[in-house]
Amino acid sequence: MGGLTIIKHVRVFDGESIHGPKTAVIEGSRIGNDALADDPDPSAVEVVDGSGCTLLPGLIDCHVHILDEAQLAACASYGVTTVCDMACVPLEKYVKLRAAKGPTTWLSSSLPAYEENSRHGMLFKLARVTPDHAVHNTEEAAKFVQDRVDEEVDYIKIIADFPGHEQAVLDRIQVEAKKHGKMTVAHTAQYHSFERGVQADFDILTHVPSDKALDNDIIGKMVSQKTVAVPTLTMMQVMADSWVLWLVSWILPSFGRRNFQASLDSVTMMRDAGVPIVAGTDANNSGIFSIVPGKSLHHELELLVRAGLTPLEALRSATSLAAQHFNLPDRGRISPGLRADLALVEGNPDEDIAATARILKVWSNGEEATIPAQNQRASLGSCAVM
Ligand SMILES: [Zn+2]
Repeated sequence: MGGLTIIKHVRVFDGESIHGPKTAVIEGSRIGNDALADDPDPSAVEVVDGSGCTLLPGLIDCHVHILDEAQLAACASYGVTTVCDMACVPLEKYVKLRAAKGPTTWLSSSLPAYEENSRHGMLFKLARVTPDHAVHNTEEAAKFVQDRVDEEVDYIKIIADFPGHEQAVLDRIQVEAKKHGKMTVAHTAQYHSFERGVQADFDILTHVPSDKALDNDIIGKMVSQKTVAVPTLTMMQVMADSWVLWLVSWILPSFGRRNFQASLDSVTMMRDAGVPIVAGTDANNSGIFSIVPGKSLHHELELLVRAGLTPLEALRSATSLAAQHFNLPDRGRISPGLRADLALVEGNPDEDIAATARILKVWSNGEEATIPAQNQRASLGSCAVM
């Protein structure tokens, strides 16, 4: 059969550990068995010299807000072949992106559950989301989950702001989501909202507190409940550096200051306690806190290493661990039969995590993605097509 790509002399991070240098094979849309490289039909084969390079599973960003299909294509050019959108409004945008045909896979929660008078309630008002979309009580919590299930969302997203919903509303959303077999992801960017998210036993908590670091009590509960963390250190850093937020907190002391070190410390503690840490950036186009989709995931990996993850742990957080916790068994690893989502990078990201950004080639579902000149490495001497 045609459509074989053979990558020779390449180090392979299979989602867990490093192997090689060895040969890797793409067969159509799937990762092929290495034996296919032994005696291929030369007319149907592209051979890539991977000397000095490392092959990674396509990266997964588990917290984004995508604007349009062009942004999805941009993600792939940075090696990010799957993204998990964590709030998509209005519904028309959700429907449009649902129909998008690659190159990056888009998962989404559609509209998140939010409280009308919370900080996010104010933001949604500014974004002209009408208040009838807010969740006010436990009955509306049940209806909210049913509505999202009807939209065929991939998971349920909850904004667990503080002040915000009563705990009973958060608890009801978790119960209803479980009834429908849906995973829950909760926005928890402050200590008290994190505490309430743990109490509701949400499956995944995204962001880490920016007001004060987590403590052993909360982290102990996370370990026993098998809670997963998507810290979005990139966003926590952007907010801590924001002069707008600094000004607001200066005028309104109750708003609180952002402390990026507290966010880093929380990740260190969770990692040391064995809480699964999954990579996510909160990439968005809000204007004030904009973060570039795709490109930002490489920065997030650097921040995770700064917080104490080993480079291998950081790589797992954006590949095998992300796939495991977002129920994507067809990706996140390099193994025969899995989806051929792959990124070829220059250097050894298991020793220097910054190497993940040195993208040379990307395949999504076996198709080679276009990499614009501005984010392609100049030194293409190695890893060239033979
Ligand atoms: Zn977000």
